[in-house]
Amino acid sequence: MPIDHKQAYDEQNIFARILRGELPGRVVAESEHSLAIEDINPLAPIHVLVLPRGAYVSWDDFSANASDAEIADLVRLIGEAARKTGADTQGYRVLANTGKRGGQEVPHLHVHIFGGQPLGPMLSR
Ligand code: 5GP
Repeated sequence: MPIDHKQAYDEQNIFARILRGELPGRVVAESEHSLAIEDINPLAPIHVLVLPRGAYVSWDDFSANASDAEIADLVRLIGEAARKTGADTQGYRVLANTGKRGGQEVPHLHVHIFGGQPLGPMLSR
């Protein structure tokens, strides 16, 4: 079920539990403020999720409330994860679903990286 991106942070969400080490995650790359893991249900040959370590519900929350250091760190790790997986060689897509109408299902900000195949148009009508 898509979530409300303005809701309070839920400490028990699945990515909070992965970040605390309570649940496993296949780590692609990591940095001081961020973690990149493989998506459990990949929609492309390369499908990585990049998470801030801090408790941010959504892109809306992160862009308003994260420090410049956290924001720079996340952006850098997205690029690093794309290079580590080889997504950078042929091009890739970065996507952050935000809130109910944006299709966000897990209430901890995550940026998807898709690659490894032609990705087609951004949205189908
Ligand atoms: P959203 O729709 O919120 O943008 O994307 C949520 C993503 O999280 C989905 O692509 C889904 O496959 C992924 N996901 C859900 N549960 C887990 C999990 O336990 N581990 C990992 N690595 N990914 C998950």
